[in-house]
Amino acid sequence: MVDGLRRLWPNLDIMVEQAGGVFRPGDFQLNFGGIPLLAAQSSYPTKTTKTAAGFEKTSGLPDTMLIRRPIFEAVLYRLLFSSSSDCIQTIQGTVTGLIPSSDMTDIRSVNVRTTGGEEKVLKDVGLVIDCTGSTQAGIKWLKSAGFISSTPDNKGRTGANSDLRISYDHKLRYVTMTFDNLGDLVRDLPIPGGFDQAGFIYTYYAHCKWGNEGFVLTRMDNTIQLCCGGWGDVHLPKEREDILPYVRSVKGAHPAPLWVVRVVEMLLESEQKGDATITFKPLKIPAPSFVQYHKITHNLPSNFIAIGDSEMQLNPLFAQGCSKALFGAMTLNTVLHNVASKELSRVPKNLSTIYFQRSHTTLEDIWTSTKAIDYGYSTTIPIKGENRAREGAIVRWYAYHAARAAETDEAVASALWHVRMLATPQVELFKPRVILGVLRWAIVNTITRN
Ligand SMILES: Cc1cc2nc3c(=O)[nH]c(=O)nc-3n(C[C@H](O)[C@H](O)[C@H](O)COP(=O)(O)OP(=O)(O)OC[C@H]3O[C@@H](n4cnc5c(N)ncnc54)[C@H](O)[C@@H]3O)c2cc1C
Repeated sequence: MVDGLRRLWPNLDIMVEQAGGVFRPGDFQLNFGGIPLLAAQSSYPTKTTKTAAGFEKTSGLPDTMLIRRPIFEAVLYRLLFSSSSDCIQTIQGTVTGLIPSSDMTDIRSVNVRTTGGEEKVLKDVGLVIDCTGSTQAGIKWLKSAGFISSTPDNKGRTGANSDLRISYDHKLRYVTMTFDNLGDLVRDLPIPGGFDQAGFIYTYYAHCKWGNEGFVLTRMDNTIQLCCGGWGDVHLPKEREDILPYVRSVKGAHPAPLWVVRVVEMLLESEQKGDATITFKPLKIPAPSFVQYHKITHNLPSNFIAIGDSEMQLNPLFAQGCSKALFGAMTLNTVLHNVASKELSRVPKNLSTIYFQRSHTTLEDIWTSTKAIDYGYSTTIPIKGENRAREGAIVRWYAYHAARAAETDEAVASALWHVRMLATPQVELFKPRVILGVLRWAIVNTITRN
C-alpha cells in the first residue's frame, strides 16, 4: 500500500509526516494466540547504503504507515489535488442514479443531488466508477437504470443476478480506544525499542481454537490506540474500568505478556491523573459482502466498474481493505494502458468485462480465505446454502498450521506476510518450500502430542 502510494505521489512521506503520521517497517508484531510470529525480515535483510547525494539510507522490511483515518483522508485529498487540480472537478453531493444509452450498452449520464439540494445531470460521461464503499450503491443504480433485474425469471429465480451480492454475518464487534496527550509518558512506557521507534506495538491475533477476542496495541501518529475486536459473544471494553480486564483475559496459547499489560496500565494511570485522555469509539461493522460483477459482465454497461468496498467488503481485522482498493486502481490502470493507444476518445466497449475478469481471481482468493477464518467461529451465520463447518475447513487447517510454522520457519513467515499485504498472489503459500514447512510443523507436532 505504502509502496503504491509513494509511486503515485513522491511527496507522500513529507505530507504524512507533516500531518503527524509515521512510517515504520511493516512488522505487525503478530502474536498468534500469544505466540510471537516472524514477519518477512528474512526476505528484506536490513542494510545501510549511501545515496548518490551521500546520505545514509537504511532499507529493510517495506514500510507501513501509522496515521488515523480522518487525518489520512485529508492528506490524500491534498495530495490528489496538488498533483492533478487542473484535471479534477469535484461536486459535493450524492450520486442518485444513472441514465443508460438508448441501446443499453453504456451509461450516458449520472444524476447527482448536491449537498445544497440541487439536482444535476452530468452528461456524456466516459467512465463511472462506483467508490461508494459499504453503501455499494452501484447495485441500486444499475437496477434502477435497467441493466440488472430484480424480478424473478420464469423459473422463479432472480436469474443471473440472484447471486450477484453474497454476504455472511461474522457478528464482529469492534471498539477503538485512543490515548492522546501522552506528553512525557512516552519516554517511560516499557515498549521494546521505545515509543519513538514504535509502530505496531503488539497484536494479539485470535484463533477459533482458543478464543474469539483479540486486540492491537499500536502507535497511531502521536497517539496510542488499543483496538479490540472479536466474533460473536464478546466482552469488549465499554468504559475505562473494562480495559485492563479485557487485555488480561484474551484467550490463546498464552496470555498477553506482562509488559503489554504494564503499558496499558500506565496509560490508564496517566488518564486517571488527568494527563492522558481516552476516546472510545465503538464501531458497527458491516457484514462482509462480495458483489460478484464478474459473473454478470454481459449485463453491465461497458463504462462501469467498482473499486474498493463497493465491490467487496471484508472483515476489517484482516486490515486488507485499503490495499484491496489500491489493487482495484492498479487493475484499472493496467486495463487503461492496454487500451489507450487503440481507442483514445472513448473507453472501449469491453472495458467493464476486462476489468472485472482481471480482478476477480485475486478478489475471490481474498474472499475465500478470510471467509474460511470467519467460518471458524460457531456464531458466524454463513452464506445461504453454505455449511459453516465444512466450508473452508481445509483452508482453516492450512492457515492454522502455516501460522504455527511461522513461529520459526522464515520461508513460511515470509509467504504469509506477502500474501497478507497483497504483495504476492495466494499461490505463494502453495510453493513446495512453504508446503514443506507447513507439513513439517503439522507432522512433528502431531507426533510429539501423541
Ligand atoms: C474499524 C475498521 C478498521 C479498518 N482498518 C483497516 C486497516 O487497518 N487497514 C486497511 O487496509 N483497511 C482497514 N479497514 C477497511 C478500510 O477502511 C476500507 O476497506 C476502505 O476504507 C475502503 O475504501 P473505499 O474507498 O472503498 O470506501 P470508503 O472509504 O467507505 O468511502 C466511500 C465513500 O463513498 C461515499 N458515498 C457513499 N454513497 C455515495 C453516493 N451515493 N454518492 C456519493 N458518495 C457516496 C461515502 O460517504 C464515503 O465517503 C478498516 C475498516 C474498519 C471499519
